[in-house]
Amino acid sequence: MDLKKYRNGMIIHPGELSRKWIDRLADAGINTLGIHPEGGKDAPRSLERLLSLLETPEYRTLIDYARSRGLEIEYECHAAGYLMDRSLFAEHPEYFRMNESGERVPDWNFCVSNAEALSLFAKRAASLALKLYGSGKNFYFWMDDGRSIHCQCSKCRRLSPSDQQYIALSAALDEIRRHIPDARMAYLAYIDTIAPPTLAHSNRGLFLEYAPFEKYTAKGEDSAARIERERGMLAPLLDYFGRDDAKVLEYWYDNSLYSRWKKPPARFELNEKPMIGDIRDYREIGFDRITTFACFLGDDYEALYGEPDITPYSGAFE
Ligand SMILES: [Zn+2]
Repeated sequence: MDLKKYRNGMIIHPGELSRKWIDRLADAGINTLGIHPEGGKDAPRSLERLLSLLETPEYRTLIDYARSRGLEIEYECHAAGYLMDRSLFAEHPEYFRMNESGERVPDWNFCVSNAEALSLFAKRAASLALKLYGSGKNFYFWMDDGRSIHCQCSKCRRLSPSDQQYIALSAALDEIRRHIPDARMAYLAYIDTIAPPTLAHSNRGLFLEYAPFEKYTAKGEDSAARIERERGMLAPLLDYFGRDDAKVLEYWYDNSLYSRWKKPPARFELNEKPMIGDIRDYREIGFDRITTFACFLGDDYEALYGEPDITPYSGAFE
């Protein structure tokens, strides 16, 4: 294991960023700060709010400070609802997805078989990439968040949700690279996109980001069974995308998940032993980049419960 190459990170909501969080990460030896606008139905608005924040001198000063402390900045967001402008639906319903009832609907994602829609999506992705102040070269423009939200038109029906994500993100990355030549884009393996695409892997700038969300909903599964199932899911993904730059997006510190995404935040209790085992397993499998959500641990959390301790996480990499 090349320790210098090793990247570990924590992801917080935009409004939670503070000098205190930055110092906490840097002092603990964490080297990547992820910023994640809130997802769900409101994801396009929360991404817009982030973009407004990024135009303010106060926020830019914080980002600069984080970089000066050695943190790489990554913006990770469910971006499809923002990248495919829903207001185009009235004039261009054909840009949007067809649901299982055969209706075009402007609710989630879009029709990746429509060349104009794909091109608009890609151009807006490039413009978004250029607005992400202080961002590193890895981009995380995830499709919308949910299950069975892909296009089922006659052309898209032969494409799996994974294929549709691949097509959209590959087009976005090609457009971003016209401005940022060494940009890379995460393929998020998550819920509907957990199986690798069936298309040939033609865009080497796409790397695997694996988010084991369903591990946290598979109640009653014992740890050995889970690890076996996880390895079974990961093998075809790693074969497809390769291990270079493969990344895990975990939930060990995701107090928004443990608070069911409702404020006030619940008191956070780290499940330390399974986390240490997971980190060991992921490193053994060949992931050299690991990050965890750490949302709902901001100032309001601290006022209620005191400062969260992230040293068990950073310590697990030593
Ligand atoms: Zn379609």
